[in-house]
Amino acid sequence: MWFSAAKVKGETEIGGCRSRRVRGGHCRLPSWRAHPPADAQHGPGGVACNPAVGGPSKSTLVHEVDALGGLIGRLADRTYLQRRVLNRSKGPAVRALRAQTGKREYSVAMRAVLDEASSGAGSTLDVREGMVDDLVVDANDRVAGVTTHFGGAFRAPAVVLTTGTFLGGAIWVGAKSLPAGRAGEMASFGLTETLGTLGFETGRLKTGTPARADSRSVDYSVMVPQPSDEDDHWFSFDSTEWVRRPTVPCHLTRTTTATHDLIRENLHLTPQYGGFMTSAGPRYCPSVEDKVVRFAGRESHQIFLEPEGRAIHELYVQGFSTAMPEHVQLAMLHSLPGMEACKMVRPAYSVDYDYLPATQLSRTLMTKTVAGLFLAGQVCGTTGYEEAAAQGWVAGVNASLYSASAPLLTLPRESSFIGTMLDDLTTKDLREPYRVLTSRSEYRLLLRADNAETETAQSRREQPPRRLPPKRPPVTSPAA
Ligand SMILES: Cc1cc2nc3c(=O)[nH]c(=O)nc-3n(C[C@H](O)[C@H](O)[C@H](O)COP(=O)(O)OP(=O)(O)OC[C@H]3O[C@@H](n4cnc5c(N)ncnc54)[C@H](O)[C@@H]3O)c2cc1C
Repeated sequence: MWFSAAKVKGETEIGGCRSRRVRGGHCRLPSWRAHPPADAQHGPGGVACNPAVGGPSKSTLVHEVDALGGLIGRLADRTYLQRRVLNRSKGPAVRALRAQTGKREYSVAMRAVLDEASSGAGSTLDVREGMVDDLVVDANDRVAGVTTHFGGAFRAPAVVLTTGTFLGGAIWVGAKSLPAGRAGEMASFGLTETLGTLGFETGRLKTGTPARADSRSVDYSVMVPQPSDEDDHWFSFDSTEWVRRPTVPCHLTRTTTATHDLIRENLHLTPQYGGFMTSAGPRYCPSVEDKVVRFAGRESHQIFLEPEGRAIHELYVQGFSTAMPEHVQLAMLHSLPGMEACKMVRPAYSVDYDYLPATQLSRTLMTKTVAGLFLAGQVCGTTGYEEAAAQGWVAGVNASLYSASAPLLTLPRESSFIGTMLDDLTTKDLREPYRVLTSRSEYRLLLRADNAETETAQSRREQPPRRLPPKRPPVTSPAA
């Protein structure tokens, strides 16, 4: 959650407005200009899962965010382990850069940017961490601030909610579940009720992550190495950000008949097929059990082993996301060529969480009913770092513009994939996690990685003033 805030000592009354409800929750202040958003790993600048950036159409989002001044592309250029251009044999509209970054390196680099922005005279950022447990809204349905679990209160003319998978979050391994936003991180409760009280509709979605394997227990000799491309490709248009570094290969293995048999025999033990959890997951990023069910005729699926860092022994088992019980997961891993003796560092899991259908927002990402309240990222029904980075940029900039009573910014559908995504989110009834895809844009032949800088920057320059936000009431001091 990000908000431009003035700290109000120990009050739950801000400017004469009372908080709607006070309950427990969990809060950090993630970056709003850049993503993946510890500890650098957790909290501001932390990456949730696989530290890969880009891929088809997602790379265009990264280039566009870079053209607008966001950081995701620059940090990926500084911290990559390997980079490949996908779809090289196809047309420019679907060619895409994908980089595997160092998980800790990325988070540390992002944290350093935040630390620099928040230190010294004239700093532009004030980072605070705390458990936000309520929104403060005035009698005219304008946001006035947030309150925290331990009694802190922040006055804020604009608030950006970026609660990710934490709102009412529950992680699942087989039939066992635990309240959590991600493994090892507390879920957030209460804000869903606040949003309900304010008249918003909320729903439930799910996503998942594969197990991590110990790289020292894997036999790479039977796998196909996937080296980095030899030629240089960068996300950022700013060549001063380009840092050439030694690369690290990924490796390719495949599912076997034994893997598929194990999955079919144990399907009823997963939360989805066992009926313990009914939330919709991302259709274009299916679990391995979904792949085996949906593509029953396929004898094998590709599995990529991706290192999470240069000095980390954890491998991300890409393409092997599952919510099977832990003992089945281990047997499944052992069924992959080269993984017969591998150690599982952490099991895969699913997580389901509350989100808010984004038709309740305008394309500025401000809610239609509470002025000054913006949402961005997973809470809007999307999934993916790049989607969150793009929305975070738009919501953060607009929260600042709103706070300054300046006209808000919208990016047209035809000029960028960011504009296409915002238009889709705010006008279509989407009931499953949204990922940006090349096919979502009817302008895909025009909106490419190679011209993202000119297209996006031009559309921003051509922007007519949209509207002025309602004038805010003066903020008064809290009662003594
Ligand atoms: C298990 C898992 C695996 C994933 N794998 C991938 C992947 O491989 N590739 C990919 O592109 N994307 C992946 N994603 C999705 C990606 O992590 C998200 O789309 C992206 O991080 C969303 O960004 P966000 O800012 O919306 O939320 P997050 O990055 O989740 O950040 C939310 C932040 O808000 C804080 N917060 C939560 N509740 C409150 C509250 N009440 N008050 C204040 N602060 C609060 C949290 O502490 C957290 O710091 C994965 C997600 C999960 C959970």
